[in-house]
Amino acid sequence: MKDIFEEWLQAYVRVYDDPQSLEILPCPSCGHSALRLVYNVYDSDRSVGWVEFWCDNCRKGIFLSRAVVPEWGVTVTSQERQAMSGDQDSRFEIIPPPIDED
Ligand SMILES: [Zn+2]
Repeated sequence: MKDIFEEWLQAYVRVYDDPQSLEILPCPSCGHSALRLVYNVYDSDRSVGWVEFWCDNCRKGIFLSRAVVPEWGVTVTSQERQAMSGDQDSRFEIIPPPIDED
């Protein structure tokens, strides 16, 4: 059985390679095309960020640290996030990476 985190990671890689697939790619958890991708960045350096990749339908997703932000990537600083209506938009259940048993 394929790990759900792995499937999310694959979906992320796919969107990274082909940003237009973000709107059509089915969510690995629920199958809806409601995926969203945001890079959390510092004001001083918007080229590297923490990835939030989640589904607006089932509100599950993954969180990845220190990723290079692509040119098309949506970025948000913590200040900008606070300025937005309360942070409600981006609440989701983070799927943990698999634990290595070796
Ligand atoms: Zn979903």
